[in-house]
Amino acid sequence: MKQLFYLAFALLLAAVAPACGDDNLEAVSPPPEVPDQPEPENPTTPDISVAPAPDAWDGVKRADVSYQLLIYSFADSDGDGTGDFQGIRSKLDYLDSLGVSAIWLSPAHPAMSYHGYDVLDYEALNEDYGTEADFKQLIDDAHAHGIKIYMDWVINHTGKNHPWFRSALTDPESPYKDYYILSDNPRADIAAGLIPMIATEGANGYDAGQWFSAVTSDENVHRLKFTLSWSATPTLTVEEVETVENTGTRNSGKYLYYGEGNCEEFYTQGNNVYTLSLEFESSWGCLVRTATGDDWGTGKKYGAASSSATLQYGTPLTLKANTGSFDPADIQLPYMRSTMYHSHFWTDWFADLNYGAADQCAESPAFKTICKAAEKWIDMGIDGLRLDGAKHIYHNASSSENPTFWNTFYTTLNDYFHAKGHTENIYMVGEVFDDYAAAKPYYRGLPALFEFAFWYRLKDALNNGSGNYFAKNISDYREGYAAIRADYIAATKLTNHDESRARTDLGGSLDKAKQAAAVLLTANGSPYIYYGEELGYVGNKEGGDEYVRNPMKWGDDATTKGIAPDKLDAGMANVPDVMEQVSDSASILNVYRTFSRLRNTYPALASGKMEVHPVYNSENASYKSIAAWYMSTEEQRMLVVHNFSSLNANVPLSEDIDKTVGKLGKVTATTAADGKILLQMGSRSSIVFLLK
Ligand code: MG
Repeated sequence: MKQLFYLAFALLLAAVAPACGDDNLEAVSPPPEVPDQPEPENPTTPDISVAPAPDAWDGVKRADVSYQLLIYSFADSDGDGTGDFQGIRSKLDYLDSLGVSAIWLSPAHPAMSYHGYDVLDYEALNEDYGTEADFKQLIDDAHAHGIKIYMDWVINHTGKNHPWFRSALTDPESPYKDYYILSDNPRADIAAGLIPMIATEGANGYDAGQWFSAVTSDENVHRLKFTLSWSATPTLTVEEVETVENTGTRNSGKYLYYGEGNCEEFYTQGNNVYTLSLEFESSWGCLVRTATGDDWGTGKKYGAASSSATLQYGTPLTLKANTGSFDPADIQLPYMRSTMYHSHFWTDWFADLNYGAADQCAESPAFKTICKAAEKWIDMGIDGLRLDGAKHIYHNASSSENPTFWNTFYTTLNDYFHAKGHTENIYMVGEVFDDYAAAKPYYRGLPALFEFAFWYRLKDALNNGSGNYFAKNISDYREGYAAIRADYIAATKLTNHDESRARTDLGGSLDKAKQAAAVLLTANGSPYIYYGEELGYVGNKEGGDEYVRNPMKWGDDATTKGIAPDKLDAGMANVPDVMEQVSDSASILNVYRTFSRLRNTYPALASGKMEVHPVYNSENASYKSIAAWYMSTEEQRMLVVHNFSSLNANVPLSEDIDKTVGKLGKVTATTAADGKILLQMGSRSSIVFLLK
C-alpha cells in the first residue's frame, strides 16, 4: 500500500511539475510517512461523487458568522422608509437562514448625520429607529434565534454638536472641559508636552491631526476687512470692523478663499490696493488666489510663508506664492488662536475625546463616562461592541498607546460583563482599517480585529486568477496573531460600509463574488457578511459612501427608501431581491446559505486550523490558479480546493477522501487506475471534501 502511495505521489509530482525531468524528482523531499492501511478484502472503485452530500447540521451555530447591517438601510417596520429595530426583528428568520450568530448594528444613537458616526448621546437611541423597548425586544428575540447583538461604539470623537462639547466651549465652569482636547496655542502646548494624547508625536508638532477653531458658530461670526497691497512682495492686512461695507469696483481678479469653498473677489481701490469686507467664518483660515475654480496653478495661490507665521490685526503679513517646490501655509486669523479643538479625522465635524495619557486613560473623565454609557447597553443585554476608528484614539497609530488604551477599555467592561453574571468574555472587535502588519499589534489590546488584509489578498487573487499564495498568506497572518494573543479572533470579511462593494471590486463579476463568498466561508477566521453582499450588490465608494449603503432589496414592504435614492449604481437594477434569490437555487444568496450551513455543520471548517496544501501552494507555479488548504481539528479534516481562474484546471489529489460536502461551479472527477482522483475544475469553481 505504501509503495502504491509513493508511486501515486511521484506521478502527481510529474503532473504538477512538467518542467522537471525525472532526474530532478530525486531531489524532491519524500512525502511524509503515513501509516499502512489494511488492504480491503474486496477492493472496489472508491465513491468519489462530486455531488455534495453534507452531513445533517445539528443546529449548533459553531461557525461564528456575523452580519453587518446599517439600521437605516436594512428593514423598515413602520412604513416611514427608514430602517428600524422592529424591521430588523422581522428579519431574524432571514438572518437565521444565513447561519449568522451575531449582528453588528450601525451606530444606534442620536447623531448629526444619517450614518451615526457623529454621536450626540451615547445613552439614548435614535428615535427614527425605535424606542428602548423596541431595542430590548430586538435583543431578546435575536438571542432566542441564537443571534448576538453588537453595537457600534464610536468613541474617538463626538459630533461637534454634542452637548458636552457645546458646554465645554461656552461654559467657563463646564464639567466637560477635560472631555476634549482644547488649547489656546496648540503649537506651544504640544511642544511643551502639555497634551498627553499627542505626546509621542510632539516632535512632529502641529500637524498631529488637525486643529480647528472653536469660534465658528453662527453667533460668533467675525466682521473683518481684508486689505491687499499688491507688489512683488504682496501683503495682506486684516482689521476687525463694526459693519461690513465695500466700495470700489469688483474687477480685481484677486480672491479671498476661505471656509467651505468660499471664494470672494476683492474690490479695486487703485494704486494696487484691493479691499474686501465680509462676515468671516472659517475653521482653517484663508488664502489669496488669482484664479477661481479648480485652477490652483503655480503663482496663483498666496498664503503665509510658513505655518508658524502669525497674522496680527492691523499688521501687514507678507504673502508668498506657490511654486513648483513651495506650497504656502494657510493664513490663520488671530481669533483662531483663542481656543482650538482637535480632530484626527481632518474634519471640524468631529471633536476628539480626550483620554489623557494612554497608561492612565482609566482616570480620565471621558473614559469613565463612556464606560458608564456602555454599561447601560450591557445591562440591556447586548453581547459586544464594534469599536470604530480603533487606530485613531491616539494619534501615533504605530505606538503602543492605542493597544494600551483598548486593553484598559476591554478589561474594564469585561470585568463589568462578568460582574453582571456572564461566564463568557464580552466580545469586542476593533476597526484597524489597515493591512496585516499595522493591524496585528492591536491584538495586544483587543480579542478581535477586522482582517482587512483578508479581502486585500483575496480581491487581488481572484482578479489575477492566481490562488496559490492565498492559504500561505492567511496562515502566516494567523501565526503572527497567535504570537501576540493566543485566543485571537480574526474577523475576516469581504467589504464593509467604507469600501466599494465586493462585486464591484471584482469587476462586477457575479461568479467571482460567489467564489469570494465560498472562500470567506471555507477559510480560517470569524467571517462577517456585510448586508447586500449575499445578494451580489454593486456600488463604487468613489461616487460617495451612499453608493455602498443602499437599501436592502427584500421584495416586500420592509424595503427602506434609502438615504440617497439617486446614488445607486446602475448595476443595482439587475440585482434580484431576496424573494427572487431564495427561489433560485443558483443565486448568490444560496451560495452564502449553503457554505454558511456547511461551516456551521463541520467544526473543522468552523474553527479548525488552516494548513497550506503540501502540493498546491506558493511553491507550485504549475498550478497558480489553485488555492487549496486543509481545515482540521483533532477529530476532523477537510480539504478545500478553489480554482480562481476562468480557465479549467485538472487537479490530481492524493488525499483519502471520505466524501464531497460542498461545491460551487462545475467540478467533475475521474478515478485513475491507482485509485487516485483527478479533479476537473471548471472556471471559478470550488469544492470541499471531508477526508477520512
Ligand atoms: Mg421605520
